[in-house]
Amino acid sequence: MRVLILGGTSEASALAGALDATDDHDVVTSFAGRTASPVLPPGRTRIGGFGGTDGLVRYLRDDHIDALIDATHPFAAVMPWHAHDAGAAAAVPRLRLYRPGWTAHTGDRWHRAPDLSAAASLLTGLGSKRVFLTTGRQELVPFTGLSNVWFLVRSIETPDVPPGMTAEVLLGRPPFTVDNERQLLRAHNIDTLVTKDSGAVATAAKLVAARELGIGVVIVDRPPQPPGPLVATVSEARDWLASLT
Ligand code: NAP
Repeated sequence: MRVLILGGTSEASALAGALDATDDHDVVTSFAGRTASPVLPPGRTRIGGFGGTDGLVRYLRDDHIDALIDATHPFAAVMPWHAHDAGAAAAVPRLRLYRPGWTAHTGDRWHRAPDLSAAASLLTGLGSKRVFLTTGRQELVPFTGLSNVWFLVRSIETPDVPPGMTAEVLLGRPPFTVDNERQLLRAHNIDTLVTKDSGAVATAAKLVAARELGIGVVIVDRPPQPPGPLVATVSEARDWLASLT
């Protein structure tokens, strides 16, 4: 079976590795190309957009894809819809592999925001002054114009800090430990953490540290997902593939 995985997440790479280890699947994992040197999974890979839904339909047909697994990031707002529409148009079964979001525990001081702009507005309402911003290097613009707020921005690659934002940049690649995060929050006297609800295990330690220190957390909600089959784990995705044969 020839499988196209829309990648960019640890689950996508884990699935590619698991399928590649068997003789039953010819796997190609696709990356958007946002990261300069992505860690490539086993199997074939390709990098770059398909050219919209029509381009993806062409790819599915030309490459004789039997199954499409959309394992893009939970905050990828466009690609899941293209996958949904292209799968239907090319009659290729499609599955969304979508890790669950985080859940609050006793002691958490979480404030949910529907998007990044709402998260920035919340900071004003909360009276935040020293903010640990972990929403990604391409998502800083909504936080400009908060003149009384100092930001500690952490990202994997160097961000372009927009004018009008007072920020120190910290480069770092997950996973992070609770000890590391606790130390960071204390050293920078952080009063608020801002994060997307990525649900990733590798970046969850900051939430534990914030809870321990009584620090408020602004959590940005995920964009809506297209209808259709959806699983949370690599093993469920493999079961779905097995059900197609
Ligand atoms: P997006 O808004 O859903 O997609 C924008 C366009 O990028 C798509 O229309 C598609 O171009 C191309 N694209 C996206 N994922 C692709 C893939 N796996 N293979 C080939 N083309 C892809 O997604 P995005 O926000 O740009 O995200 C792109 C990448 O960053 C994905 O790998 C995603 O998983 C990751 N991501 C990370 C975070 C984070 O917070 N760390 C958040 C969002 C996304 P065409 O229309 O030309 O096909």
